[in-house]
Amino acid sequence: MSNPSVSSSAESLGNPRFVLPPGTGQIKKAETSSAAEVELIEILARTKIAHCYQCGKCTAGCPVAEQMEMGPTKLIRFMQIGSVDKALRSNSIWQCVSCLTCSSRCPKEVDCAALMDALRELSLQQGKVSPQAQQIVTFQRAFLDNIRRNGRLNEFDLIARFKSEVAIGTRQLSFLFKDASLALQLRKRKKLHFGKKSSADLDVVARIFARCVEDES
Ligand code: SF4
Ligand code: SF4
Repeated sequence: MSNPSVSSSAESLGNPRFVLPPGTGQIKKAETSSAAEVELIEILARTKIAHCYQCGKCTAGCPVAEQMEMGPTKLIRFMQIGSVDKALRSNSIWQCVSCLTCSSRCPKEVDCAALMDALRELSLQQGKVSPQAQQIVTFQRAFLDNIRRNGRLNEFDLIARFKSEVAIGTRQLSFLFKDASLALQLRKRKKLHFGKKSSADLDVVARIFARCVEDES
């Protein structure tokens, strides 16, 4: 059964995943509260932020915690005290590799990995991606588009698109040739293919993408 307070929070954040009854308008971003954002993140992640008792087991097991400015424990703490914006603007959410270690270690069954997903989704939606994470977002978009068009990964196509977008966006043409020497080694190990290969099941891939869009509307 739908929960009206949940719907209203979702609406206030303009999340297309939660479609509200016709006639209900969008509340401006400025009117959104941290509590509504926490509620929406919990809905997206299907987990309870308040259940975390800050034991630190998630961060202790996270393979990239050392590279993060703040590990999952601290990100969750910021959400608990209402500083959701800090979590949304953090570079750490983009460094997460979705390995699920944190979720499997949590004694309180908090799904930290799902929280990371939800934070990334909202961060993108609200235009709060940290400047350092822009290249990660560009790469992920190029990767998904590559799969959508080819039905499988076409390495050369992916690298060409990613590098050209970053080079144009940052106006650093040298980025185009950065790591170019690795191409030969990758080629020798048959990890880099130049020809355009497509999956025989492009229709199936198209249906998967269409289903994802449907689920978000
Ligand atoms: S392991 Fe669970 S309870 Fe412990 S800090 Fe992480 S999310 Fe919180
Ligand atoms: S899912 Fe992300 S935050 Fe969790 S342990 Fe893996 S890399 Fe760290």
